[in-house]
Amino acid sequence: MVKFLELAQFFERLEGTTSRLEMSQILYELFSKADKEEIDKVVYLTMGELVPSFRGLEFGVSEKLVMEALSKACGLKLSSIQKLYKDLGDVGKVALEVLKREGKGLSVSQVYEELYSIARAKGTLDKVMLLINLLRALSSVEAKFVVRIIVGNLRLGVGEATIIEALALLLGRREYKQMVERAYNLCSDLGLVAKTLAQKGLQGLAEFKIQPGYPIRMALAERVASAEELIRRLGKCAVEAKYDGFRLQIHKKGEEVYIYSRNLEPMTEMLPEIKQAITKIDADELIIEGEALAVNEQTGEFYPFQITIQRKRKYNIYEYSKEYPLKLFCFDLLYLNGEDYTTKAFIDRRKKLEDLITFGNTLELSELRIVQSAKEVEEFFEDAILRGLEGIMGKRLDAPYTAGSRNFNWVKLKRSYKGQLADTVDVVIVGYFYGRGARAELGIGALLTAVYDPSSDTFKTVSKVGSGFSEEEWISLKKMLDEIKLDHKHARVDSLITPDVWVEPKYVITVSADEITRSPLHTAGKTGDEPGYALRFPRAVGFVRLDKRPEDANTVEEILRMYQIQKRISVE
Ligand code: AMP
Repeated sequence: MVKFLELAQFFERLEGTTSRLEMSQILYELFSKADKEEIDKVVYLTMGELVPSFRGLEFGVSEKLVMEALSKACGLKLSSIQKLYKDLGDVGKVALEVLKREGKGLSVSQVYEELYSIARAKGTLDKVMLLINLLRALSSVEAKFVVRIIVGNLRLGVGEATIIEALALLLGRREYKQMVERAYNLCSDLGLVAKTLAQKGLQGLAEFKIQPGYPIRMALAERVASAEELIRRLGKCAVEAKYDGFRLQIHKKGEEVYIYSRNLEPMTEMLPEIKQAITKIDADELIIEGEALAVNEQTGEFYPFQITIQRKRKYNIYEYSKEYPLKLFCFDLLYLNGEDYTTKAFIDRRKKLEDLITFGNTLELSELRIVQSAKEVEEFFEDAILRGLEGIMGKRLDAPYTAGSRNFNWVKLKRSYKGQLADTVDVVIVGYFYGRGARAELGIGALLTAVYDPSSDTFKTVSKVGSGFSEEEWISLKKMLDEIKLDHKHARVDSLITPDVWVEPKYVITVSADEITRSPLHTAGKTGDEPGYALRFPRAVGFVRLDKRPEDANTVEEILRMYQIQKRISVE
């Protein structure tokens, strides 16, 4: 059994290192100490949560409330606490400063239960009361991490990949990493994976199965530059319309329906019309995927993405679902009545999907054609573009559904514009600059952005972005970034440039650019003395992509591919 104080001490050690190798060693030590019943809780808390994010359990406790609770727990005036917070900029540091006492030696499970009650409590008053009681039982270093977890700002710099590595170490060999990864891809719940591993060992992992209600990590597409490349890579294949909406994974389990967004946030309550349509499908257990889009019922045309995305909201859902009803263009079947379909060939999954669902009204089938020549691909592509779609998808007929990975089983071919990169790039904000001239007043003038490198689980810089936002957007952006600012570079960021303010890599923005150039200033794709790659004339399109997690940003490899494609196009 691990005491919460021990956990806090492990957190301190994690905070003190920027080496991933060391982090996985520390985590390995921590996980080895935990017993079977609590290891999932240890994993969740290390990730700064109580349950996986797809369960949608939020604390609903602001920094302001935490300060009130701190003031009551330590007897200092609220104004003094607020002043300290202004100086230190972090509720964790404030707690460490003001709570000078020994704790009661609570275990991880005890603190977890208390935290759980706080998250589940309905009213603010109840939450604060529970928090005051908890704080009174904690030592200052324990409280430092507890309050950070509560405000959603643990900042240990530990990514999923590091936890997976540590769990593989627990199995005794690094090579077991793939098995841990497989289980994670099938349930998106590292706590559950850790518990299975602790209770049932290797065999438990080998027998790990999909369970409706646990999202499968989504398969992603590589990009191709032309119809010829699509055929060259896939041979005879399926091409489908690429709808510009948002991707959903939908689970049916008896009468229950669970809907997850692309970054595996729960969306069931935001999509009543889709939920209802799924309930009617004649299957006990089912997992399908599709793209949801608002369609004008009068004209049959798609509404722009800006309208579709407004559904990701908490209020007036019902009114919205009447005004802009969504259609779900179904494109894959992953699970049916106890049977795992992800291992079956795409074409078989598709056939079953067609048989299973009565399409029309809310549920539609994605448009598909089997093709074998570049000419046929070109025709399908031209037709899609003429109808206002953003491009097409190509799918290998015999490929399984590769959960959690991006590869050439699926490819996308998008329309392009001259003098501009064919595609926008999703980048993560890792810092910002104060700005000059008119911007100096705003206190923010440009962002330092990065792409993701899955092999090292780090973010590598690719561009400074200083245009594309309105003044209001800059102001809200600064506010959002100041909440996650750091006094040092984040452990998972690799950068040669030092911005005025570092922030936790959290927010993704979409940028368009003229081209990709080689640059010695940026670390994306940089090897040894060779320069890295950078975006030329980048400008933001839209605001922060709250539907994407930092790991969903484009990858270094994709930037390299875009660079190759661009070279090829300029030669053609
Ligand atoms: P991208 O977001 O540019 O990487 O493109 C891949 C995304 O296209 C998927 O994650 C889906 O959200 C979306 N999409 C639209 N239509 C389809 C389709 N027919 N098959 C698969 N994905 C699709």
